[in-house]
Amino acid sequence: MLVFKCPYCGIEADETELNPGGEAHLKRFGPGSSDEELEGYLFNRENPKGVHFERWRHVYGCGKWFHAARCTATLEVFGTYSAQTFEPPKEIIDIIKAKRPGWKWRNLS
Ligand SMILES: [Zn+2]
Repeated sequence: MLVFKCPYCGIEADETELNPGGEAHLKRFGPGSSDEELEGYLFNRENPKGVHFERWRHVYGCGKWFHAARCTATLEVFGTYSAQTFEPPKEIIDIIKAKRPGWKWRNLS
């Protein structure tokens, strides 16, 4: 069972207290974008075996959205952080790199 620590209220919540919100850090496209960009934003998602960044809502707690970094293969949770970020914080990246040498997030080294 997945257990996340809500970064807002600090409670350790299992997945029955949370609602998943899909992939985190999507680049949004709206008016003025190409059909391909909008299609990609609406329908294309990562589905990795390994490190993944997701949106979760603490629905039976504080009600706020947050981001979580976890491994989809082992269910290991690397950390949670505010949803008001465009990319994972450095401390989360450092935790993942320490546990998964050679792993890279998008264009970060
Ligand atoms: Zn909470």
